[in-house]
Amino acid sequence: MTIFEKIAAREIPAKIIWEDDDAIAFHDVNPQAPVHVLIVPKKIIPRLAEATKSDAAILGKLLLTAAELAKKLELTNGYRVVINNGPDAGESVPHLHVHLLGKRALAWPPG
Ligand code: 5GP
Repeated sequence: MTIFEKIAAREIPAKIIWEDDDAIAFHDVNPQAPVHVLIVPKKIIPRLAEATKSDAAILGKLLLTAAELAKKLELTNGYRVVINNGPDAGESVPHLHVHLLGKRALAWPPG
């Protein structure tokens, strides 16, 4: 099981803020901003590069969920949504996830 599957199964504790049958969202254990939430599909897609057309609905849902959670978490001054894919991007957990970061100004370009 991936770390994120274990969180969804409540085998590893996490600050879960939202969940439905398809996905779960929880605070990142090592936050890179005052708000740093991960939105994770329950279907195991290792990374974006391995998603297929049959994953279109869940991919859309992850982004719409990020926008809904941004409202709920009052990220009124803006926020960033990130997917790290592969070694050059710093991907460390091979289970697709969307990062939602906010409550501080974020530099561009990213490091
Ligand atoms: P990646 O680098 O793969 O894009 O992002 C993985 C993220 O998962 C990192 O930001 C890391 O801090 C977070 N993470 C890794 N293990 C755990 C964990 O056990 N609990 C939580 N809440 N976040 C984790």
